[in-house]
Amino acid sequence: MSNVHPKAQNALVALYPGSFDPIHNGHVDIIRRAADLFGRVIVAVYDRPDKRLLFSTEERIELVEAAVAQWTNVEAASYASLTVEYATTRGANAIIRGLRATSDFDFEFQLALMNRHLNHDIEALFLMTSLEHAHLSSTLIKELANHGAPVEDLVPSRVADALRLKRERS
Ligand code: ADP
Repeated sequence: MSNVHPKAQNALVALYPGSFDPIHNGHVDIIRRAADLFGRVIVAVYDRPDKRLLFSTEERIELVEAAVAQWTNVEAASYASLTVEYATTRGANAIIRGLRATSDFDFEFQLALMNRHLNHDIEALFLMTSLEHAHLSSTLIKELANHGAPVEDLVPSRVADALRLKRERS
């Protein structure tokens, strides 16, 4: 990936929330593009999503940090509150979400309207997935890795190593 130095020189802050269990190339692409638009991007790892997790919060943060280390205006943090509340405490102007196919839309639309209901001042911003990442989801990647299928083309190298370790230890 390119852009070691951020292009965006503005004071705008974006929060990119999710489970990131684990982070994959589709997420990294969204982060890179957000980092070109915003002065600062906070990748916010949700501490307790309503799903079964493979990686602990600390592991998920570590993997995000390794994946974004090349961009000086991107940081990782965990949070356990409502996303809009966390966005407010971090001074975020926008909440970024990535959109894959139409299947993401219904849920994201509802979530964005609920977030606006809770806080009018934080804008929801959607970045369309890149074609080459449209089929990626953390769930599918975990399933592939669990069966020993190669995932090196789908995730950052640290994540591929971490998935391999999980499989060996299970
Ligand atoms: P959540 O658990 O909230 O669905 P994820 O960690 O799976 O969060 O994803 C975080 C965000 O990244 C969501 O907005 C999701 O739609 C987006 N995302 C997930 N996979 C992709 C992808 N392949 N391309 C673009 N965006 C994606």
